[in-house]
This record gives sequence, structure tokens and C-alpha cells, in this order.
Amino acid sequence: MRPSISILLACCLLVQASGCGSNEGPAVTDAERQVGAETHPQLLAEFGGEYRGDEADFLAAVGEKVAGAAGLQAKCKFTLVNSDVVNAFAVPGCYIYVTRGLMSIVNSEGELASVLAHEVGHIAANHSERQQQRSLIRSLGVLAMGVLTGSERISRIASAAAGYFTLRYSRKHEYEADDLGLSYLRNAGYDPFAAAEMLAALGRHTEFLTRSRERDEARSIPEWALTHPLTENRIDRAKANAEKMGLQPDQLPENEAAYFSTVDGMLYGDDPEQGFVLGRRFAHPVMRISFEAPEGFRLTNSREAILIDGPGGLRGEFSGGRTPSRDLRAYTEAVLADLLGNVGAASASLEQGTVNGLPTIMVRATVRTEQGPLAVTVAAYDAGGGDAYHFAIVSPSQSVPEASLSELFGSFRLLTPAEAANLRPRRIEVETVSPAETLQSIARRMAVDMPVEHFLMINGRTPDVPLRPGEQVKIVVLAG
Ligand SMILES: [Zn+2]
Repeated sequence: MRPSISILLACCLLVQASGCGSNEGPAVTDAERQVGAETHPQLLAEFGGEYRGDEADFLAAVGEKVAGAAGLQAKCKFTLVNSDVVNAFAVPGCYIYVTRGLMSIVNSEGELASVLAHEVGHIAANHSERQQQRSLIRSLGVLAMGVLTGSERISRIASAAAGYFTLRYSRKHEYEADDLGLSYLRNAGYDPFAAAEMLAALGRHTEFLTRSRERDEARSIPEWALTHPLTENRIDRAKANAEKMGLQPDQLPENEAAYFSTVDGMLYGDDPEQGFVLGRRFAHPVMRISFEAPEGFRLTNSREAILIDGPGGLRGEFSGGRTPSRDLRAYTEAVLADLLGNVGAASASLEQGTVNGLPTIMVRATVRTEQGPLAVTVAAYDAGGGDAYHFAIVSPSQSVPEASLSELFGSFRLLTPAEAANLRPRRIEVETVSPAETLQSIARRMAVDMPVEHFLMINGRTPDVPLRPGEQVKIVVLAG
């Protein structure tokens, strides 16, 4: 999570210096490949690691077909990321990433191929290189905080919480990648109409998130839509361009069955090893802790920390560590020192107390920046057994939401064994629809909120299309 932004910035300079990006068809230079290889572990750390197994092998095999069709045979690396956010992205060197969350809403090999072909399109057209240069400028607003204070740590919190991956392609680049992707899809032998279906599925996912989070403004923009802006027009364009290829829908295969047998059993939602983000609540069954953020806050799970966005430009993270001597004061000071780096705080205060039976220390500091004073708050808890946890929050001094912060800090508590036992991972289960099955009866077996809407969303369906006996669908069930 932490160093990826700066590494990406370093990357684009490297790529630029290498003078690559000629227009003689797609190519991946050694310099770009080096960029990809160096960024790879950082991106994986940020996104929750690699998800290995049949699904990942399948993804790589489909990716290779598409890369071959693009003239990039054996030049790309396709990785399945262990994250339930819905996203796919490409890094120079043709390192292409698809999240587990995205695979859960895909309904055929052809649809998955269309996502990969689109990403390969961004690589072939050198978009990520150009995009990262623009992203450098855009990131400066966020990074400035850290640059000006000299604290790399504050800057990392600010930039990481601002979004996993702040790249946003322009509409022009999206169209280019769609067009290139469609030709690779067709040349790889897949039904080109799968591209429009995939875009429609992503659109439905966006709508679903907006509906399920409509009370929670901060969560209303899904990750995928941030990275690859989706317009209704993109779906129509993809369909029209597929029609121009002179094929009928389903004339070429989409391979639904192969896809369904691959994702049967795939982890769905949060990985219990990383804890569960349930709306504004975070609960970790292994660490047996939980907290709840107030309205207007947004939590994002990553492997190393829970990233927190809040009102008025508030950014922060929740994390933990060991303090075998149970010296909470030393722990808190170490967190603050790490946060501030070599920047001195203009003022600081320390307060001891108890929250839900746990000893706690809160430190408030002010840091001067050219953009004005910045309030830094660390709230640390002694959870017993040498385990400590903390929130580190950074926000502009004039807009510290004090009441919300007390609510957040006061919500941290230990889970009971029963509560921890109830936090079970969920998996995708592929089912063959039986004649008596209805939308309602199948939705009743879904271990999720809004089960009917959720079922329709992950299966790319609308309520007016009846279930056909014998067809395969995905449901979400509690694992084991
Ligand atoms: Zn794109």
C-alpha cells in the first residue's frame, strides 16, 4: 500500500528517460518491463496480495490468448489480486491486474477476455505511460501536504487513502482501449459482443453500489468507474463496433461453462485474514477487534492498514502492532514519530483514558505546512496480550470533525468469541437452476444484504428475464 504512488512516479520518469513509446505497433521495452517488475510487489501489497489457484491460472491463460492476438505474445503478466473492489488496470511493462471482485461479476470467459483485451489496449497505445505523467501532476495536490511538511509518512497516508490507484483514463483513451480491445477479442476467437455485455455488467455494478451506499455519500463512486470512466455511450459503441465485424451475437463462443466451473468456490467479499469492512464497520475475526466509523466516512481494506477517508479532507489509517512490554505511551510515541518523520510538531498534547475497558492514549499534534496548519491525531489502544492498535488521522486544522472523531475513537472494542465466530468468509457457488426455482427462492440462499439485487448484479441479469431451468448461475454462500 504505502510506497506505490512514489514508485509509480519514479516509474514514469524512468520510462520517459528510456525514450520508449514509439508508434511501430505494440512493444514492451526492457525498461518498461523493469518498471512493471519493480512496481509489481508494491501494487500487490497495496491491493491485498495475489489470489492464487485455478482462477488465477485461468485468468493468465485467457490473458495470454488476448496478448497473442495483440502481437504481445509472452510479453504480458496477468495477476489476480486478492481484493473485493471491482477493478482492472495495467502498468507499463504489460503487467495487468484484475481483482477477485471483478471476476465475481464476470459471467463468461469472453467477458473476462474483453476486460483483459481492454487493458492490453491501454498498454499497446501507451496510455499508462501518458496517464502516469498526468497523474503525477494530479497527485501533487495530495502529495504537496507531505512534500511541504517533509513527512513522507503523512504524504503516504494522504495519498493512499485518496484511492488505491488514482489513475483515471480520459474518455479518448477509454475509446481507444475499447476499440483495440475489441479487435484483440475478435482475433483471439471470442464473441466480440462480450465486450458490450461486460461494460453493461460493470454499469450494473456501479448502479448497485450507488443504490446500496446511497446513504453513504463518500462510498458512492466505485473504484472501477474511477479508473475507467464508464458512459452509456461506451456500451453502445462496443455493440455497434461488434456489429460492424459482420458477426451475429454468439456466433463465436463466450465459453460460459468454462468460466463458471473456474469461479465455483472463489472467495467473495473480504478475506478474513484481512478483516471485514462491512459498510462503515470494520471487524477482524482473527484479531478479534472492531470499530465503526461515523456517517460520511469511508473505509477501505488493504493488507497493511484500513484506510480512512472522512469529511473536510480528513485522511487516516487504522493499524496495529506489538508492544510486549505493554508500554502504550512508548507505542503511541513511536507511531507519532513514524508519522511525523523528521518534522517537528508545533504543539502536542497527550491524554490518557479508557475506551470500552481498554487503556487508551490520545495524542494531538499540529504541524505547520505552507497550506496552513495540519492536525495530526493518534489514538492508541492496549488490547492486552502485548497487542496494540491505533488510528492515525490527518486533517486540515480548520476542519477537524471533533465529534465524529470522538465517535470513531470511542467505537473501538474487542469482539466476543461468538461475534468473531460469526464473521465467516463467503464464497461463490455455481448452481444449475432447477425447474421449481424462482428469483426469490434462489436469492434466499444468498448470504448477502439486498439478496435479489445482489444476485441480479453478479449474474449480469435484469429482473424481467426469467430463470431458465438448466442454466448456471452464481450465488454467494457462507464458506465451510
Ligand atoms: Zn480503461
